[in-house]
Amino acid sequence: MHRLLVEHGLRDRIKLFASGKLVTADKIAVALALGADCVNIARGLMFNVGCIQAQVCHTNRCPVGVATTDPKLQRALVVDEKSYRVTNYIILLREGLYNMTAAAGLDTPTKLSLEHIAYKYPDGRVRRGEELFAQTKDG
Ligand code: SF4
Repeated sequence: MHRLLVEHGLRDRIKLFASGKLVTADKIAVALALGADCVNIARGLMFNVGCIQAQVCHTNRCPVGVATTDPKLQRALVVDEKSYRVTNYIILLREGLYNMTAAAGLDTPTKLSLEHIAYKYPDGRVRRGEELFAQTKDG
């Protein structure tokens, strides 16, 4: 998407938000390197607040009290405990992202680009990000 927007002269008018199982610092770094301006994180925070992926949010019967208005079920969510877990998750996520950024010789994750990532195939071959997403003549 980043490349298409650049090709059509629209990149400076549109912001890209990446999302979808981006729960760890390495995945966030890859999303930024691929051109994302921002990253949405939902699942990672849900896990840390106690979600066990029972997938009954729409029934008001969430067994861990995360997605329910039932006072009895809500007792399962101990806010004083979960607030520490969520805080630790965010702090470690940020630390991991900045550690990878520093390892790439950069001062901010927003400077990550294709040249900083590589993909390793199951057979051991490694391709640099720039090679994987190389522009062909016909686009
Ligand atoms: S019902 Fe509760 S535990 Fe299940 S997916 Fe929804 S929030 Fe998570």
